Amino acid sequence: MNKYRLNYPIPLSQPDIINREIDAVVSVLKTSYLSLGPKLQEFEKKIIDYVGTKYAVAVNSGTSGLHLIVRAMEVREGDEVITTPFSFIASANCILFEGAKPVFVDIDPKTLNIDCERIEEKISDKTKAILAVDVFGQPAEWDRLEEIAKKYSLKLIDDSAEALGAEYKGVKAGSFGDAGVFAFYPNKQITTGEGGVIITNDEKIAKLCRSMRNQGRDEGESWLQHERLGYNYRISDINCVLGIAQLERLDEILEKREKVAQMYNQRLKDLEGIKIPYVSSCVKMSWFVYVVRLRDSYTQEDRDSILGELKKRGIDCSNYFTPIHLQSFYRRMFGFKEGDFPITEKVSKTTVALPFYNNLLEKQIDYVCENLKEILEEMR
Ligand SMILES: *Cc1c(COP(=O)(O)O)cnc(C)c1O
Repeated sequence: MNKYRLNYPIPLSQPDIINREIDAVVSVLKTSYLSLGPKLQEFEKKIIDYVGTKYAVAVNSGTSGLHLIVRAMEVREGDEVITTPFSFIASANCILFEGAKPVFVDIDPKTLNIDCERIEEKISDKTKAILAVDVFGQPAEWDRLEEIAKKYSLKLIDDSAEALGAEYKGVKAGSFGDAGVFAFYPNKQITTGEGGVIITNDEKIAKLCRSMRNQGRDEGESWLQHERLGYNYRISDINCVLGIAQLERLDEILEKREKVAQMYNQRLKDLEGIKIPYVSSCVKMSWFVYVVRLRDSYTQEDRDSILGELKKRGIDCSNYFTPIHLQSFYRRMFGFKEGDFPITEKVSKTTVALPFYNNLLEKQIDYVCENLKEILEEMR
């Protein structure tokens, strides 16, 4: 069986840092601008040029970016924000940070993004905003979202932490709604080590976020003058220079990821028991992870044993995502229970995220697919 066995475990994800990027980081270390220096501005400028928004505010994580956007929109205790339960937890936590309530809407079973047809029934007097997520690098249905937000005068947030470079009907993800976010943790398309960026066309949001990331200082204000409550969400120039260099390679990186995804698709598309990722014809995907789903006859126990078997064979894998509403503290805070969002729950029980990164080799993909096939056959 183990004819493809390689002599190391294949990781789920892996950053791709080249020598030029290491040199760039070292060069910043030799300057006296380790933070709030020229690389911060250059990074923000590069993001603006790429996404086409008026403003970019770089911060120390995607989560910080989401928090600042929510605050800049004056989402407060008593407000509700409509969002998806099928996401990384930060996209709902940022609503809790301000004491507001996340109101979940179940997902479309194909795209795995928020189901726009179910949003309106959840809108109340308290609804302040919609926060949609471009899950796994596939943009949400942004023309519908913008329509609904406009109709009900709601703010609209694009959590594009997983979708740098993706497009919806030819427009870059992240740029939709009133403000968006990209994230640069090492498993994302590009990395700054830790980092994120807010993108917006709204000058007021940009100004507030800029101030709040830097202890509430207004532009031009002295170091000990603080106009409003702020945080230290600054990103260092060391991180920014890495981001600049990675952005320069973004097209090449996205192409590599597309190739890896297509190699998986080819090998798995006819495999009984597996559904390969669905990609809507309205989008250009920016592959964040490669997640297959087991057919409906499989249970969560089956899925978990498949994950266990893959790991035994040196293949790292994961169950993207555990539904947010079923996380213990969400259950405690809001009384959520199993059955509340059946599509999210059904999908969550049957996902298998396979190793996925820029430089994953064809023979490693073969090894993963051969083993997955074997495991599925053994289960039948
Ligand atoms: C990664 C991620 C975030 C948070 O980004 P960090 O930089 O890790 O804080 C937010 N939302 C989604 C959907 C993500 O995948």
